[in-house]
Amino acid sequence: MPSADNVMEKLVSLAKRRGFVFQSSEIYGGLGSVWDYGPLGVELKKNIKERWWRSMVHEREDIEGLDAAILMHPKVWEASGHLAGFTDPLVDCKHCKNRFRADDPRIKGTPGQPDAQCPACGSRGTLTAPRLFNLMFKTFLGPVEEAAAVVYLRPETAQGIYVNYLNVLQSSRQKIPFGIAQIGKAFRNEITPGNFTFRTREFEQMEMQFFVKPGTDREWFEFWRNQRMQWLVGLGVRPEKLRWHQHTPDELAHYAKEAYDIQYEFPFGWQEFEGIHNRSDFDLSRHQEYSGKKLDYLDPATNERFVPYVVETSAGADRTALVVMLDAYAEEEVGGEKRVVMRFHPTLAPVKAAVFPLVNKDGMPELARRLYDDLRRHYNVFYDDGGSIGRRYRRQDEAGTPFGITIDGQSSADGTVTVRDRDTLGQERVAAERLVSYLEGKLQG
Ligand code: ATP
Repeated sequence: MPSADNVMEKLVSLAKRRGFVFQSSEIYGGLGSVWDYGPLGVELKKNIKERWWRSMVHEREDIEGLDAAILMHPKVWEASGHLAGFTDPLVDCKHCKNRFRADDPRIKGTPGQPDAQCPACGSRGTLTAPRLFNLMFKTFLGPVEEAAAVVYLRPETAQGIYVNYLNVLQSSRQKIPFGIAQIGKAFRNEITPGNFTFRTREFEQMEMQFFVKPGTDREWFEFWRNQRMQWLVGLGVRPEKLRWHQHTPDELAHYAKEAYDIQYEFPFGWQEFEGIHNRSDFDLSRHQEYSGKKLDYLDPATNERFVPYVVETSAGADRTALVVMLDAYAEEEVGGEKRVVMRFHPTLAPVKAAVFPLVNKDGMPELARRLYDDLRRHYNVFYDDGGSIGRRYRRQDEAGTPFGITIDGQSSADGTVTVRDRDTLGQERVAAERLVSYLEGKLQG
């Protein structure tokens, strides 16, 4: 295996070379910590989101989907606590004008004091005392740029769920306990972004808020912790690279009663990429207070009224995609030659199969094209007739394509093709007309 130090570098370079992830606005020098997904990356991320949606919405009768707008009434952020509290303490260097998080381990000494040293320019005594900086992006609604028109790009998708809680409850005829799930963009003006797509300023979240009767929250919290870990293992992420981190009292967010992160062992250390939070009745109570609208629930069975508690599962689609890419990345020797292979779970692989005519003659390209046209009605498949078959396999290994289908001399005689397995490198002859059902069996989630 490659060393942890350079695996990140190698992944970033493969991601660009093969079209998983590009830097935003690269021809203009790039935009800090904003990334674009290329042809393979968009498929990978879409597959992750689809599997999440399937397991959180379609496979459950007690969860409904939602797609709320990014822009929301500014009062939402007062109620949620983001306007007052979504801040990081920062220090500025008066000399080089760089800005750092106050807890940046590279800072030597105490910011604001003469002994403190700037980690960028090395000047002493030029760092200001920490000041709070809000992470929300601001913009203006309508033509006038004035204070009354300020709106924010949402820093999380959860609030869109809380403010629609009654709408969904009433229109779907759900009863508590039930949940609302949403996938969407969120924006944070992160100060120390970095590590590729790990911490970015624009990202996607996959969040589910589960509304429960107070007193049953602990049970649901445990239930959702289990579900989420099982889901991740089902994606093929190696269990030994996953662990729980329980928030200590001083790590707990203002809204949380109990919280666990799911961490992955990234090349830069164990870090969170999903959180499960018991948010108590904080959110609905606050929205009730700030909006003046009643958000309590009348239990039809017991005639009790209560403000539901919320158990939240909050995952980043981009961080999950990064976990999946890092976990899939492997280098190995095959027949004395080095290969890089992305061992994606077949359901997540951007391209499910590649079709190759062995040579570009003897009717093979025609047969291969026909097969390709047939398969692409079912799956995202790729046609490649360029270069030696070995090189074509290598290219698909890097893309993480689980199956390579070669049409050779025997194909026109008996209607069979060879199917090469990306991981075992085993080859099987399969009747071309059976390929759709053959792949179907291998591509189950
Ligand atoms: P961190 O401590 O890393 O800033 P957080 O605790 O603020 O994360 P949450 O607010 O709980 O994160 O957000 C839930 C999920 O959203 C995270 O687990 C992560 O996957 C994703 N996420 C949050 N911030 C970012 C970001 N800046 N870039 C990419 N993904 C993010």
